[in-house]
Amino acid sequence: MRIPENKIEEIRNLANIVDVISTYVHLKKQGKTYAGLCPFHNDKNPSLKVSEEKQIYKCFVCNAGGNVFNFLMQYKSISFIEAVQEVAEHLGVKLELEKGSSSIVNSELEELYDVNVTAAKYFSNNLLNSRQGEIAREYFKKRNIKTQTQKMFGLGYAFSEWEHFLHYAEEKNVNLAKAMQLGLIDKRNDGSYYDKYRGRIIFPIFSPNGRIIGFGGRILNNAEKAAKYLNSPESPVYLKRKTLYGLFHSKDEIRKLNKAILVEGYMDLIALFQNGVKNVVASSGTSLTEEQIKLLSRFTKNIVVIYDADSAGQHAAMRSIELLLKEDFEVRIVALPEGEDPDSFINQYGKKDFDELVKQADNFLEYQMRIYQQEGKLDSPESQAEVVRELVKSVALIEDELKRNLMIKSISKKFDLREVLVESELDKLLNKKDSQKKRYAGQNPEAPIPHEAEKIKTITRIEAKFEEEIIRLLFEGVEEIQDLIFDNIMPDDLHNPDYRKLSEIALENYRNDIVSPSGIIEKIEDDNLRNIALSLTLNDISISAKHGEEITSAEVTKKNALRYASDVIKKFRITKINEEIENNKIKIKNSETDDNVLELLRLNKELEEEKKAIREENILINEIE
Ligand SMILES: [Zn+2]
Repeated sequence: MRIPENKIEEIRNLANIVDVISTYVHLKKQGKTYAGLCPFHNDKNPSLKVSEEKQIYKCFVCNAGGNVFNFLMQYKSISFIEAVQEVAEHLGVKLELEKGSSSIVNSELEELYDVNVTAAKYFSNNLLNSRQGEIAREYFKKRNIKTQTQKMFGLGYAFSEWEHFLHYAEEKNVNLAKAMQLGLIDKRNDGSYYDKYRGRIIFPIFSPNGRIIGFGGRILNNAEKAAKYLNSPESPVYLKRKTLYGLFHSKDEIRKLNKAILVEGYMDLIALFQNGVKNVVASSGTSLTEEQIKLLSRFTKNIVVIYDADSAGQHAAMRSIELLLKEDFEVRIVALPEGEDPDSFINQYGKKDFDELVKQADNFLEYQMRIYQQEGKLDSPESQAEVVRELVKSVALIEDELKRNLMIKSISKKFDLREVLVESELDKLLNKKDSQKKRYAGQNPEAPIPHEAEKIKTITRIEAKFEEEIIRLLFEGVEEIQDLIFDNIMPDDLHNPDYRKLSEIALENYRNDIVSPSGIIEKIEDDNLRNIALSLTLNDISISAKHGEEITSAEVTKKNALRYASDVIKKFRITKINEEIENNKIKIKNSETDDNVLELLRLNKELEEEKKAIREENILINEIE
């Protein structure tokens, strides 16, 4: 007999571990947790700790611990399924029970979302039902976008009048200052408002969770002297560099197929989706950002990048590819036939041909090589050498050694070079930093290397503390905290192998929508790791208490925890950058060539700027408050 995963989750969420354990052990409240005599060893002092908030327990003497199911399994020597059934019975409910939902109510943000919803309904109604909307309906008809698809993506139309939405908003008692903040209206010099979107097709932009965070508006009449696209400005709900158009609609399919297709425009995405290619996201005009890539990596690490053949951005494509390689993505590239974009292609040739195109996608080496060939760079030996160097530079971005070696092999083959030559080029790039440090440490014993090295060790120790804190936060059971963490930090960023493993497990569960500590702990098979997680999680100092505010309600606690989490994440990121800067400084000190120094100085300047940007980032806080 098998109980579906989501049922188990349901039961786990409904159960109260304190109630269940109390049936067998006398528990006494101690601060935020309960304590009792551990039934799993000969306990004299209450060593068993039970957290109602986190729904886990642990004995600090014999290390027994886990969630409500683990307790029953251990106490009664029963199987996991029996434990689940027992808890269900204990709850007095059948296995199929509805799950309650909880979310942070955030009035400020909610109001912005509400304004967006009002606007989206208005635009959609204009398109679907109004007489004036005929022109927009015609447009979509010409572009082969079915009504059903229009509804699915919430497409709309903004009339060409100057105050039509404004009047509607006033009628609906929309807060106009908020509407302006969201870029829906603007103010004239005389203080009167007017509509920002006029005569435009409207594409609502959804968050991965399906909330409307912004709009893209495409001009209908190309003759008009206005920008082709008008997009919502950044706002507390719309963070452009963290948004991928279409992800809400495509994330399940991306997960299922373990592959994402990246296109450029709204219409490309919608056309593909309508034709059954549903694992697609759009960068919508901007070049791909690191944040977008991290967001996508929650769902897959395989990406097929599709660029218009006539796009001016072939080199921009390369930049995206580099970013993707750095984040350990498996990248493939499709160059469409001249004059085609994904929208026109799928409409003309259909899904089968499109799938075939994706199947035959180039890996990034093949793609780059083709671009260089087009540019005539493969013709002379000199430029060929240049090309090889460029290709090896891309390969150097790949973390996986095996993958790198395969790439080197194919470069050697392609250019008929001895592998060892290409390898040494790669080694140069890979060891540029390290080798210098080592060489000089050996050559110049007077250099203040030991001192500097010590400094780095200290930084790393601080980092270790942050790593611990991040794991604790991952087991806080708050989805929003996990969002924050996985937006900014991936398991690989952690040095401590145990923490890395734990965060991998947490990420895996997060991808499956399991964020409760009791749920994650159930998935940790290694006893040692489970013990680490339980110890960290049941530590006396709770996150919210740390933030130094009175705990008045669960909501305030959650809010504080979020604020604290965003703080820790920021500091962790800054610490990592500091470490890099210090390393570079050592290298500068020991560098033999001016070129190296310049490059390192430039790098450090960039890092300083990045630090500044992180410090000024209010996003995390904004999302919370
Ligand atoms: Zn015990």
